Amino acid sequence: MPVSHSQLYDVIIAGAGPVGLFLACELRLFGCSVLVLEQAHDAGSPLKRLPFGLRGLSVPSIESLDRRGLLAAIEARMVDRGTPAAAHWMQQPRAPGGHFAGIQFFKDRVDASQWPYRLPGPLGTIAVDIESIEAVLAERAITLGAEIRRGCGVESFDQSDENITVRAGTESFHSRWLVGCDGGRSTVRKIAGIAFTGTEPEFTGYSAQVELADPEKLRPGRHYTATGMYTYAPLGTIAMVDFDGGACHRAQPVTREHVEAVLRRISGTDVMVAALELVTTWTDRACQATDYRKGRVLLAGDAAHVHSPLGGQGLNLGLGDAMNLGWKLAATVRGEAPPDLLDTYARERQPEGERILDWSRAQVALMRPSPSSRALEAIIRGLMETGDGATFFAERVWGTGLRYDLGGKHPLMGRSAPDFDLGDGTRLNERLRHGRGLLLDFDACASLHAIASRWSKRIDYIAADPRDRLGLSALLVRPDGFVAWSSDLSVDGEQVAPALARWFGNP
Ligand SMILES: Cc1cc2nc3c(=O)[nH]c(=O)nc-3n(C[C@H](O)[C@H](O)[C@H](O)COP(=O)(O)OP(=O)(O)OC[C@H]3O[C@@H](n4cnc5c(N)ncnc54)[C@H](O)[C@@H]3O)c2cc1C
Repeated sequence: MPVSHSQLYDVIIAGAGPVGLFLACELRLFGCSVLVLEQAHDAGSPLKRLPFGLRGLSVPSIESLDRRGLLAAIEARMVDRGTPAAAHWMQQPRAPGGHFAGIQFFKDRVDASQWPYRLPGPLGTIAVDIESIEAVLAERAITLGAEIRRGCGVESFDQSDENITVRAGTESFHSRWLVGCDGGRSTVRKIAGIAFTGTEPEFTGYSAQVELADPEKLRPGRHYTATGMYTYAPLGTIAMVDFDGGACHRAQPVTREHVEAVLRRISGTDVMVAALELVTTWTDRACQATDYRKGRVLLAGDAAHVHSPLGGQGLNLGLGDAMNLGWKLAATVRGEAPPDLLDTYARERQPEGERILDWSRAQVALMRPSPSSRALEAIIRGLMETGDGATFFAERVWGTGLRYDLGGKHPLMGRSAPDFDLGDGTRLNERLRHGRGLLLDFDACASLHAIASRWSKRIDYIAADPRDRLGLSALLVRPDGFVAWSSDLSVDGEQVAPALARWFGNP
C-alpha cells in the first residue's frame, strides 16, 4: 500500500542538484516549508569531482552567493580541499579572462570602466567543483530546516487548483507548489506537459580520463582539426567534439576502443589509449521550456533549459533562476505577493535563457570543421585582441551585462545593485543576507524614510553615505539584489511608492 504523508508542504522541489538546493535555501530563508526529493541515493559521483566537476561561477552567481553568505563557505571548502588545478588554458603568462569556442580573451584587454555602475573589485569567474557547491548548499538547506530525501525520485504527480500530490516510489507527498529542478531530462517538465523546443545536436562531446601509451603523439592544448576539435591536458584529460549529429551520446556504452577510434580520427594521429578510466558524453542540443510555469508547477535550472557546456553557463543560469524565483514564490506562498509577481519569474528568466542558448549555438557554428568556421575564428581572435572586443566578450562570459527589462529610464534599473561600501563597516551584499528588500537613501531624505516605514514589514530602510555613491541619491533593491528603482536626483518619497507596490505589494 502506498504511504501517503499527511504534512502539506509549501513547496516540494524535485532534484537536489545545485539549483534545487539553492532554491531550498532561498525558500527556507523566507520561512516556507520545503521538501526536496532526490532520485539518486548518493550525493557523490566521480563526475562531480575534479577534473570533470570543475565549474566556473560567473559574476551574477558570485554576487548571489555572496548576498546570502554562501560564497565564503564555498571558498573555505575549496581551500580545505585544495583549490582546483587551473584548467590547462589558464596556465599561461598572460591572465586569461575566459573563452568563446575555445578562443581566449585576456584580462589585460578588458576595460571595466565601460561598465559605469560597477565598483572596483575582483572581476571574472571563479573555479569551483560541483561536489563542493552541492555540499555547502545541502548543509545550509538542512541547517535552515529543509528536508532532503535521497533515493526518492518523483515519478508522477497530480495538481488541483489548491495543491499537488507527488508520488515517489511507494510514498506520496502533498504540497502547494512543485518546482522541477530535476535536470535536462526533467520528469516534472514532461508530466506537466511543458514543451521543450530548440535545436537538435550537431555533435557528440566527450570528456575522458585516459592513460595514453604514447602521449607524446598529442600536443597539449585545444586544437581544431579537419574532423572536429580536441583538447588534451597532460596527465590524460581529454575533451573531444565529434560532429556526428550527436549519434554517439547515450546510444551505446563508451568503450576504450571507441574513445581511441574517435581520438585518432579527430587528432589525425595513431595514438593508443591504453586504459579508459572515466568518460562521459554530452551534446550541443539547445532547448528551452516553452513555459516556466504551469499552474502550481514551476521549472528551474537544466529542467528549464539545456545547451552545450562549452560556454560554461548552465550552472550560472540555473543559480540565477533560483535566486530570481525564491523570493517571488515565497511571497506568493505567504499571500503577500502583488498579483503578477510570480509571472515575472518567467518574464525575466526566459529571455536570459534564450540569450545563453544563442551564445552556445554561436560557439558551435565557430567550431564546425569547415574552412568558413576557421576563417570566422581568425576574425573573432582578432576582435578579442582589441579593447572593445575583449570587453564585449568579458561582459557576456562574466555575466556583467545581465539586465532585466523592468521598464524605467535610469540605466541601473534591472541591473545587479553595486556592492556599496556603506561607510558603517558593512557592504550592501551583507545587508541582503536575510533576503529583505532595501531602500537605500544616500541623501537622508525624510520623505523616503516615511514611505519606507509604510512598507517596513517587507523592506529595510538604510540611510547611508557610501564611500562611492556612483552619482546616485537613492535606490530600491529587490531581495535578489536587483535594482527595482533608482535616482540620481533628490526625490520625493511618493516617487518610489509605485515601485514598492509593484514588487512588495500593499504596505
Ligand atoms: C562537462 C560539463 C561541464 C560544465 N561546465 C559548466 C561550467 O563551467 N559552468 C556552468 O555554469 N555550467 C557548466 N555545466 C552545466 C552545469 O553543470 C549544469 O547546468 C548544472 O549542473 C545544472 O544544475 P541543475 O541542478 O539544474 O541540474 P542537475 O545538476 O542535473 O541536477 C538535477 C538533479 O535532479 C535529480 N533528478 C533527476 N530526475 C529526478 C526525479 N524524477 N526526481 C527527483 N530527482 C531527480 C538528479 O539526480 C540530480 O541530482 C557543465 C556541464 C557539463 C556536462
